[in-house]
Amino acid sequence: MNEPEQFRSEVRAWLEANCPESMRHPYRSEADICWGGRNWEFQSDDQREWLRRMAEKGWTTPSWPVQYGGGGLGREHAKILKQELKRINARPPIYSFGIAMIGPALLKYGSEELKMQHLPQIVRGEIRWVQGYSEPNAGSDLASLQAGAVDMGDHYIVNGSKIWTSYGDQGDWMFALIRTDAEAPKHQGISLILFDMKTPGITTRPILLISGKSPFTETFFENTRMEKNQVVGEPSQGWTIAKYLLTHEREMIGETGNLQSGVQLLSRVAVKKQGLDNGRLSNPVLRTDIARFEIDEVCHRLTMERARDEAQAGASLGPAASMFKYYGTELNKRRHELLMSVNSHDALVWEGAESNDGQLPRRWLRTKGNSIEGGTSEIQLNIVAKRILGLPG
Ligand SMILES: Cc1cc2nc3c(=O)[nH]c(=O)nc-3n(C[C@H](O)[C@H](O)[C@H](O)COP(=O)(O)OP(=O)(O)OC[C@H]3O[C@@H](n4cnc5c(N)ncnc54)[C@H](O)[C@@H]3O)c2cc1C
Repeated sequence: MNEPEQFRSEVRAWLEANCPESMRHPYRSEADICWGGRNWEFQSDDQREWLRRMAEKGWTTPSWPVQYGGGGLGREHAKILKQELKRINARPPIYSFGIAMIGPALLKYGSEELKMQHLPQIVRGEIRWVQGYSEPNAGSDLASLQAGAVDMGDHYIVNGSKIWTSYGDQGDWMFALIRTDAEAPKHQGISLILFDMKTPGITTRPILLISGKSPFTETFFENTRMEKNQVVGEPSQGWTIAKYLLTHEREMIGETGNLQSGVQLLSRVAVKKQGLDNGRLSNPVLRTDIARFEIDEVCHRLTMERARDEAQAGASLGPAASMFKYYGTELNKRRHELLMSVNSHDALVWEGAESNDGQLPRRWLRTKGNSIEGGTSEIQLNIVAKRILGLPG
């Protein structure tokens, strides 16, 4: 047996012995998604054990270096691990903005001290990170942000606010963009700073959403102390790092187009709700729409896989992340529109429509935000036009 196949059989055996049976099914509710962190209440012993075992192997972050707790796997081995996890329908042991966003930025730009302090905790899911980028007047035009710092020598005193902070009230630490040089041109006076959400002077206020649930907060800083040794990269040089982090965020969001279980679910529900006619879905319009969706979904997944193969393991996809973010979020919206259609009038009540978790209308409404979060679709198209197609700005 060649080396990769040897690795595959080791992975298979390890998963067989270590992935609890209850972690081999799609999510049934929001609480099945493990976010980790200081305040996380595990849903079950299996959920806790699955995270612990995967983290111990470094497989929550397969391609991160071993010295930071990662799996140290090369591209081929990381892909094998992914395939084997998929083969048994294993749930991701954790969802984490630490793994998807600040971790890659630290790996590329962080000092050794910051890496050693934060990366192993991210791998183990001990700290839940939140993102403090947007402000009331700085969304698409992010570099207009105003949350500002006064330099106090070894630390800053920060005042201002952030908006649309997802899970701001549940996070342990924030990575935030703060203006640390008010005199510099707007892209040059910004630092990426890490801080504990328990720091005095930080408050959060929920923002209610159309879906009835609110993972959103506004975050306020009032004379909040932020340490200079928690600045990622050089002070006031954070813009490049902020953009690099965004490419990882966009890649993560682009993945919402890749839920293969979503395709299976769609076909299953369509057959159940609409019935068959000569072995084919009885409603010809829905049949065509679902077939088109499935083809587009496969194309998106394969193209994303190819782009990842071409990029170095763990490296950013660069501007291509904008393409996948744009198309993946359109697919996720279409998937949920179709699920609503096949459920017909059953989808008109909050609970009762057929889906993985019985929460379809809320999920459908939530997808509307996919093409806004992480940068709107218009902004992604601008990036594709300029940086991929080379069109004049
Ligand atoms: C579900 C969700 C989760 C989020 N989570 C977070 C989070 O955790 N942390 C965080 O910091 N932020 C978060 N955000 C905020 C998000 O990043 C911003 O909403 C987004 O960047 C858009 O900014 P804005 O809302 O200020 O809209 P604006 O920038 O005011 O845009 C308004 C409209 O104008 C269009 N527009 C603006 N500029 C241009 C242009 N140059 N060319 C073409 N069209 C343009 C936009 O496309 C949009 O349609 C989240 C948003 C959502 C919806």
